[in-house]
Amino acid sequence: MSIPKKLTNASGIPYAHNEDTMSIGARGPLLLQDFILHEKLAHFNRERIPERVVHAKGTGAYGTFTVTNDITQYTRAKVFNTIGKQAKVFLRFSTVGGEKGSADTERDPRGFAVKFYTEDGNWDLVGNNTPIFFVKDPKKFPDFIHTQKRDPRTNTKSPTMMWDYWSLNPESLHQVLFLMSDRGTPYGYRHLNGYGSHTFSLINDKNEKVYVKFHFKTAQGIKNFTNEEASKMKGDDPDFAQRDLVAAIDKGDFPKWNVKIQVMTLEQSKTHHFNPFDLTKVWSHKEYPLIDVGVLELNQIPANYFADVEQSAFAPAHVVDGISYSPDKMLQGRILAYNDAHRYRIGANYEQLPVNRCPYAVNNYQRDGAMALNGNGGSEPNYFPNSFDHIEADQNYTDPPMELDSNIADWYSRNAEGENDHYTQPGIFYRETLSAQDKKNLINNIVGAMSGISGPKRADIINRQLCHFFRADIGLGMSIAQGLGVTVDESVMKH
Ligand code: NDP
Repeated sequence: MSIPKKLTNASGIPYAHNEDTMSIGARGPLLLQDFILHEKLAHFNRERIPERVVHAKGTGAYGTFTVTNDITQYTRAKVFNTIGKQAKVFLRFSTVGGEKGSADTERDPRGFAVKFYTEDGNWDLVGNNTPIFFVKDPKKFPDFIHTQKRDPRTNTKSPTMMWDYWSLNPESLHQVLFLMSDRGTPYGYRHLNGYGSHTFSLINDKNEKVYVKFHFKTAQGIKNFTNEEASKMKGDDPDFAQRDLVAAIDKGDFPKWNVKIQVMTLEQSKTHHFNPFDLTKVWSHKEYPLIDVGVLELNQIPANYFADVEQSAFAPAHVVDGISYSPDKMLQGRILAYNDAHRYRIGANYEQLPVNRCPYAVNNYQRDGAMALNGNGGSEPNYFPNSFDHIEADQNYTDPPMELDSNIADWYSRNAEGENDHYTQPGIFYRETLSAQDKKNLINNIVGAMSGISGPKRADIINRQLCHFFRADIGLGMSIAQGLGVTVDESVMKH
């Protein structure tokens, strides 16, 4: 038998009474001097940190990324530089709109955020289970997210807010179709694909650049709940996805994803038939075939959920040498927003928390702030340049210049030619990607969701959204109109 450990308070002071507070007599009032009581209650009151505004409900696991194919012609990123090389990863899955206690099988996109611990620092690829998004300009993001949260008066989710917003923002149509298909209710987290979603760039050792999209294809196969199954599971087991991931990994059934990229040259990006940096569109696989890169495997559930999952923080700004940004406007916005969110949620030194900490060298002059856990630089200089330490800014870590095609100006994409085709890809998706059963479920799911629209603007919202479905595909629009009991006249179809 192991020797019992002594119970102590947070400062290591052993104490004898953990369940009864010192009082004046057996029935008397409690004494202020029993500070263990204060410490227990005060710490308990502070157990919650602010919930993430989006992606609050999630789970995560550690694993490995292994390179299986040589892509060094495109990138000098060290994580990819040798076939067989492995990097440790942490992956957090999540739903988006629901609170921390919400059900895992809600209809929602799923977050797919990967942290690669590389020798050039931590690379965060903060994606979703869809290759596209609802909006393409970050200024729209807070408004859009408000519609996915609770109505300010009723404090309930509101189909009216959602469809009002979507119908007024037709660029959302592609993602709305994905969301309303059965991929909007995935069977846990193991059976979905992940996508970096944004266009990023890769830079090789000759300083040549290409644009890139990242794909993580589930080796478990795609598996979804139908709408009915997902609704039932909300009651049966609201933590279904969390439980499923933990159970699989704990029994050694390690989930895997095949990591692939699509590559577009700078020349191709200039002549591509739509803006390749538009997050509401995909790059066709026929034009830009998937290239194998490696395998990501999850094989360890963190010992403590709060320590590693709740405190994990991913930032699209965190790319490593050989990987860089693109003019994708949503990516540009997220480069700012994510680090800011983490500093608010877990503090200025959030990157010193074990799950976020780079396991390789971190040398800089950032000091102090709440929770400076890493020794705070000890007695080393806290300014740069200085005559005492030997830390240098290595000029080899420089990106090639990004070519721009316009002047800085009040330039708004909604006015630009070629930026407003919101219908071609949703039409292809409906006609060519979905099976007959997928189409049937999609239509039923949309009709069910739109039936929840209520209030004086109901007819306006439905008609406006129907116009978008018609523009993508007449048959799709017709089926949804019929399902909603709306009589379609010529004017709706031409609107
Ligand atoms: P492809 O036929 O080569 O690719 C179609 C893709 O659609 C596959 O990656 C497939 O993923 C995915 N898919 C299949 N069913 C669904 C579904 N119900 N919901 C979401 N995705 C699904 O054609 P293209 O590359 O030319 O794309 C055609 C259309 O497919 C696009 O307009 C877009 O709407 C959709 N799509 C395209 C993707 C891309 O990156 N090119 C990625 C995802 C969707 P899987 O192999 O895992 O089944």
